[in-house]
Amino acid sequence: MIRRVDLRGRVAAGEVLDLQALVPRAVFDVEAALDVVRPICLDVRHRGLEAIREYGEKFDHVAVADLRVPAEALKTALEELDPSVRSAFEESIRRVREVSEDERGEDVVSEPAKGGRVTQRLVPVQRVGLYVPGGRAPLASSVVMNVVPAQVAGVQSLAVASPPQKDFNGLPHPTVLAVCAMLGIEEVYAMGGAQAIAGFAYGFEGCRKVNLITGPGNIYVVAAKRFLQSEVGIDSEAGPTEIAVLADDTADAVHVAADLISQAEHDPMAASVLVTPSEALAAAVEAELPKQVAKTKHRERVEEALGGQQSAVVLVDDLDQGTAVVDAYAAEHLEIQTADAEERAALINNAGAIFVGGWSPVSLGDYCAGSNHVLPTAGCACHSSGLSVRSFLKAVHVINYSQQALADVAQHVVDLAHAEDLPGHAAAVTARFPGESGNG
Ligand code: NAD
Repeated sequence: MIRRVDLRGRVAAGEVLDLQALVPRAVFDVEAALDVVRPICLDVRHRGLEAIREYGEKFDHVAVADLRVPAEALKTALEELDPSVRSAFEESIRRVREVSEDERGEDVVSEPAKGGRVTQRLVPVQRVGLYVPGGRAPLASSVVMNVVPAQVAGVQSLAVASPPQKDFNGLPHPTVLAVCAMLGIEEVYAMGGAQAIAGFAYGFEGCRKVNLITGPGNIYVVAAKRFLQSEVGIDSEAGPTEIAVLADDTADAVHVAADLISQAEHDPMAASVLVTPSEALAAAVEAELPKQVAKTKHRERVEEALGGQQSAVVLVDDLDQGTAVVDAYAAEHLEIQTADAEERAALINNAGAIFVGGWSPVSLGDYCAGSNHVLPTAGCACHSSGLSVRSFLKAVHVINYSQQALADVAQHVVDLAHAEDLPGHAAAVTARFPGESGNG
């Protein structure tokens, strides 16, 4: 069901391990997907709304009368939302909002010289398009993860797109609509995939172009974001999901197997990786997986994900080697289920989010931890962060020097300008102090 990679003894035998190549990612050919999405994006640019509607029909198999979801549909979806689901979303929103507010930060004023002030102002992006996936599963929780940090950042104009659903007359899934209504989002479009990303990037009849697009999605969404990034700001490429679990003998095999399945359930391309020095735990998880998979709803998807090259049980010499393996892998989600979980978590540099100990499963983070579930995949966690309030803020330096403060540093500016053979830069300073010598 899941392959095994045994690294034990290999370093002692003198082998130099290429840790990044040990567990390859799924074949996620964004270049090939780019060939698919390029004509879609260009068509949307030229034909706007009509093209978006046609691609909806082609890929989502439903005719959409009005791309803009009517206010009435949002209201009805909220009224019809199951009360227990509503209260769960309320709690999820409360927690993500609290974390976002704590993280927002204040403007920072520095005075590196007397009379010379530099202020870093945190300014919200003005208009944002938020993508909420809806192909395989209606990820209504992604509404929370996109909208709440954007609202806390102070974004003025927010639009949401989610694929039209055949079973709901071409509207996005009602739970997605209900959560939009809970958060006061009025501008919602029934559009998915590359055509939605292009619609936001270029704008179309009735929808102004946005400055930034955020949100996870499948390979076509990722490819369209990559194609359009000179047109519009994008967050990191949040593609097919990944979980790595670093565990020792103290971990519960039933829990570890359940966690591996929980992410495999997203996508046949999802990756589930267990890294452990414990032969006993590895064997117990390998035995547990088929039992749980047999009972899981999305069995086919899970089997494909667990059986793919991107998933593995990796046996290591010890936890230190395991830590190096998961750090090199840079998983979107990293669970640490070891006796020293907290100390070990501090050793990790590369992960989208780190879940510490046996009581912090990834599913908690997907919904109700207060953390964000839109996270960098495909190893991008070694250079990128997950979505947060900061994704919606720009830092603008405001420079304010007095005459004396400029005079005090003028000679340095002039010397540096001449060192770079840019005399015009020097002149812009000396022109302000005519008659002063030594700064020509
Ligand atoms: P989706 O909304 O991303 O994609 C559906 C759209 O894909 C459709 O509307 C359609 O327009 C387009 N499409 C489908 N087939 C196509 C084709 N052959 N050619 C062109 N376009 C086509 O929904 P999904 O497919 O369920 O994918 C959601 C993804 O989001 C999963 O891979 C999941 O793992 C990922 N995800 C990632 C994170 C993260 O933070 N990394 C979080 C949640 C979800």
